[in-house]
Amino acid sequence: MKRVRFRLKTEWQVRQGTVEGEVVRTDSGEWAIGDVVLLPPCTPTKIVCVGRNYAAHAAELGNEVPTNPLLFLKPPSAVVGPDEAIVLPQSTTVHYEGELAVVIGRRCRNVRAEEANEAILGYTCLNDVSDRDAQKWEKSWVRAKAFDTSAPMGPVLVTPDEVEEPFHVVTRVNGEVRQDGRTDALIFPIPVLIETISAIMTLEAGDVIATGTPAGVGPLVAGDIVEVEIDGIGVLRNPVRGPTE
Ligand code: ZN
Repeated sequence: MKRVRFRLKTEWQVRQGTVEGEVVRTDSGEWAIGDVVLLPPCTPTKIVCVGRNYAAHAAELGNEVPTNPLLFLKPPSAVVGPDEAIVLPQSTTVHYEGELAVVIGRRCRNVRAEEANEAILGYTCLNDVSDRDAQKWEKSWVRAKAFDTSAPMGPVLVTPDEVEEPFHVVTRVNGEVRQDGRTDALIFPIPVLIETISAIMTLEAGDVIATGTPAGVGPLVAGDIVEVEIDGIGVLRNPVRGPTE
C-alpha cells in the first residue's frame, strides 16, 4: 500500500488516503493525483538520523567509520513535504543527503533486532539537508541539521509488503545524478538501528529513522531542484530557495 497525507488544492483540510497509479482514494472519495497537494506522509514527534552509515560517505568527508551508530535528531519543525521549498540557512555550504527513511508504526521501547520488522509501518524518502559550515564548529549539529525545511519527506509511505530490500537510493540535482547507493551497504542495518535507538528512547507511531546517506553529497544553491528517488517509493522533489527570497 502507498499511503499519503494530502489536501485538495482548494481547501486546507488534511486527509489521509492511498495512491494507486494516478488516483488518490479515501473512504469518502477519490481524486486525480494532480488535483491534490501531497503533504509529508507522516507526522513524526522526532526524526532520529544516523550519520556516516555508508563507508564510502564517511570516507568522502574524511571521517572514520563509527563503531556505534552515530545518532542525531531533527525536530518536527524541520519537516516539509514534496515540492515544498528548502530554504537555505545563512551559510556558504549546504549539502543534500538523500536517504531511506523508516517510519515507525506503533509506540515501542527496547525492541530487539529480531523483532524490529514488527515496529515498521513503512518507508519513505528523506533529504537530510545539512549546513556544512555549522557542522564544522558546532558539535551538537543543531544549526547544521535541525533548521526549518532541513527534512523534506515523501512523496508517499510504502508498506513493507510492497517493497523489496535492498533499497536503491538515487539523488539528482537539476536532473543530474549525484548519489547512487543501495541499503545493503549500510554499516548498521535497519533492525540494528531500531534496537539501538529504542534502547535509548521511546519511539512513537509516525516517528522516523533516517538511515544515512550514500557517497556523493554536494552543495545546493538557490534555484536548484533536488530529487531523492527510491525504487518502489517514488521521487521526492524539492526546489531550493535562498535565505532572503
Ligand atoms: Zn544524513
